[in-house]
Amino acid sequence: MMKKQVHSKDVQNAARQRLADRGVTITDIAEIVYLMQSPYHPNLTMQKCVESVEAVLEKREIQHAILVGVELDMLAEKGMLSEPLQSIVATDEGLFGCDETLALGSVFGYGSIAVTTFGHLDKQKIGVIKRLDTKAGGKVNTFLDDLVCSIAANASSRMAHRLRDEEEAAEEQAG
Ligand code: MG
Repeated sequence: MMKKQVHSKDVQNAARQRLADRGVTITDIAEIVYLMQSPYHPNLTMQKCVESVEAVLEKREIQHAILVGVELDMLAEKGMLSEPLQSIVATDEGLFGCDETLALGSVFGYGSIAVTTFGHLDKQKIGVIKRLDTKAGGKVNTFLDDLVCSIAANASSRMAHRLRDEEEAAEEQAG
């Protein structure tokens, strides 16, 4: 008997729900995109940034990374992982890099701007990323902070390329 495939819509809805459950909104991520791209595009609007984040969240690869990472955060928060992984994830152990690797794995599809922006956000911890990084109230966001960096970096890169296309189209029209 063929196993029933998980429907893409269910995966997308679950990934978006996980972000919401963990207190990360689309606007939170769009604000980071705005900060990254507005210096290069003075007419940039938040609406465009929101659209770019939404488009990134339609990618299956991103959805899967969110599901894996947030699941591990939630299990660690409940003390449900086995040792030593439980302690490593719960304390966000300094040399543990799987959170970054998982998130980094989903930026290559958006090119070099996504890769360099990811590195920048991971270091600078802007906006909601900073809030996630301060493990207040027993929250575990070891994977989530890197995932947000990845979504924001992808949306920034996508935006940079789109805006150039739009500018060139406008120039051609103006002739
Ligand atoms: Mg992390």
